[in-house]
Amino acid sequence: MQRDDRLLMTPGPTEVEEPVRRALGRPTTNPDLDPDFYRFYDELGQKLGRIMGTRRPVLVLTGEGMLGLDAAVASLVEPDEPVLVLSNGLFGRGFGDLVERYGARPVYVEAPFDQVLAPEKVEEALAANPRVRVATLVHCETPTGLLNPVEGLLRVLGEHQVISIVDAVSSLAADPVETDAWGADVVLGASQKALSAPTGLALVSVSDRAWEKVGRRKTRIPAFYANLLEWKRTWLDARDRFFPYTPAAAEMAALGAACDALLAEGLEAAFARHRRLSRAVRVALRGAGFRVYAPEEHAASSVTAFLVPEGVDDRAFRRRMWEEQGVMMAGSLAELEGRLWRVGHMGAGAREDRLFRFMRALEARCRADAVPLAGSPAELFLEALRKEEAA
Ligand code: PLP
Repeated sequence: MQRDDRLLMTPGPTEVEEPVRRALGRPTTNPDLDPDFYRFYDELGQKLGRIMGTRRPVLVLTGEGMLGLDAAVASLVEPDEPVLVLSNGLFGRGFGDLVERYGARPVYVEAPFDQVLAPEKVEEALAANPRVRVATLVHCETPTGLLNPVEGLLRVLGEHQVISIVDAVSSLAADPVETDAWGADVVLGASQKALSAPTGLALVSVSDRAWEKVGRRKTRIPAFYANLLEWKRTWLDARDRFFPYTPAAAEMAALGAACDALLAEGLEAAFARHRRLSRAVRVALRGAGFRVYAPEEHAASSVTAFLVPEGVDDRAFRRRMWEEQGVMMAGSLAELEGRLWRVGHMGAGAREDRLFRFMRALEARCRADAVPLAGSPAELFLEALRKEEAA
């Protein structure tokens, strides 16, 4: 049975706050026939534009984050085209599979999962592969909590007129995403991460340059639903515009409420909150004897991954933590499964009380399972916060 006081501390989905949940229950409408919904959708796209650092309206597609990645790759790459895949994590590498699935040829530029890619490596790869016109990159690698310094990478790509597809799914609204200032072309987000809205919406920002490439395709887009050109034809360019498919109005209303809350707090204030709390999380975990996976200078503000202590059964530990402490912590994925634990401190998860409760639950679970600790994660967390305040 589910406890009333359970707490989700995963790196998405995150807790959904009450005003956002209430927005889900607004009376339904037929989006295509309701002028108010058109206005609402336009405003939502503009609010998301502010959050994503772009003056262009952001498209909100019904389908979770992966739909945005799928649509971007399906719409932009052509068969046999070489595509630069910047990979130092599971999502970075995963872009290569998507590129391949749509018939293009991934050219990997790789670094180990706990290191960032140097812009010079991208230069070299472009010099060796002059036909490359598209590159994929990931801002925050959610499985490891590593935040890639994409600005420098995007500068190199821009200098070579390479169109970038940037996965900002788990950084957006926690760390700054400056789509226009960085010259990023396609930037992708999702509703259930640091925006703390319900799962189910993909956020897609597309530059003029990227639209031009989509418009110049020699081959048909090999996808039906994940086809950005449909959005251009029916929504962006049409005189009598309409939605290509029925938007999920309730989820969009909730996302709108989440954007309002974030913009009312202020983006800078929200980033500062994420930075302060995430630093305190890492200090506390290290002090308690855990090893944080990402190097401190590249640690994301939205998620921290740390090593599962030697000899601990990852799944059993986390299941007991959920059943007995009522707190859900995430493991990691693929080859990192069983090796890393992850705590989300994004959006509604980036709150002192929630993170304190997480630390207490982790501590209680470690003590109950005789996992040695070098200190109390909960006490260390409070101490780190006090130091942050004094600094
Ligand atoms: N990209 C990153 C970096 C993610 O962390 C995730 C989900 O965790 C996705 C893409 C896919 O998003 P979704 O699960 O909403 O499809």
